[in-house]
Amino acid sequence: MSIIFVSSRAARQVTDAVYPWKRGSIMFTFKGEFFPDPAKASLSEFYEGELAVFLHTLRRNGQLIEQHWNLVEQNGVVKLYCIAPDEDALEPRHYNRYGLEALGGLIQRSLRPPVFRVIGKTLGLSDACACESPSYYVLFSNFVAEYSPVSCGDCNLPVPLYKLPGDSEDEYYALRQWQGEYKACDSLFVLSGVGEGFGYREISEIESPLTKEGLEICREMSQKSKRPFYYFLHRHYVPQESTCPGCGQEWKLDGKLHGIYTFKCDQCRLLSDAP
Ligand SMILES: [Zn+2]
Ligand SMILES: [Zn+2]
Repeated sequence: MSIIFVSSRAARQVTDAVYPWKRGSIMFTFKGEFFPDPAKASLSEFYEGELAVFLHTLRRNGQLIEQHWNLVEQNGVVKLYCIAPDEDALEPRHYNRYGLEALGGLIQRSLRPPVFRVIGKTLGLSDACACESPSYYVLFSNFVAEYSPVSCGDCNLPVPLYKLPGDSEDEYYALRQWQGEYKACDSLFVLSGVGEGFGYREISEIESPLTKEGLEICREMSQKSKRPFYYFLHRHYVPQESTCPGCGQEWKLDGKLHGIYTFKCDQCRLLSDAP
């Protein structure tokens, strides 16, 4: 099984020049080319079948940024424009079992293996965490999030799912499920309409079903990663009490952590902000 991967030295040099501080791994735009074999599948069978399976498998593994891709057909070749969280994010060494299976199925219906080329740095998207070994993580999302629900505690940038320790056999289902629910609740809150109160309670209260689900994910992910996983309780209307809602100990920080968090309990692994 093979895939051809072409890195763009020019793109990397431009990136190095413009972003010398290397804050995080940079989002890159890629061009992929796929070569369907007309003897084995029609064009629509190819892109609605094997190609769609392949791309969604990479998306669930955090290797492709959700919804930021489009396909174009040109002289029998299917061209893909997409965004990935690192220059090497699409290389097969980062694939899980499903990605490798999907690539195998794709190649079987192709005249030759697909090719990926880096076009350059993507504008307007947050960079991703590039830390070797983050000392802790935060389960964090909001209504506009379109990327990983896990932030690095050190650099505060989103961590691509495929870089998280632990098995990827379930394709990070619990994390993706929690993020979908969190975004829905935060959207109801931000829209300030019919579901405002419901949405706010879910994202702000320690006893809400959404928070309980998130805290359970934090416990599991902490065991898998051998690192603390913190949970974020959002506050908007009334400042938090000076004592942690989990254990009752003082939890106000002296300053703001990462420009967001003003409360932190290391025992309960909770973070919160202030309105
Ligand atoms: Zn980091
Ligand atoms: Zn506590």
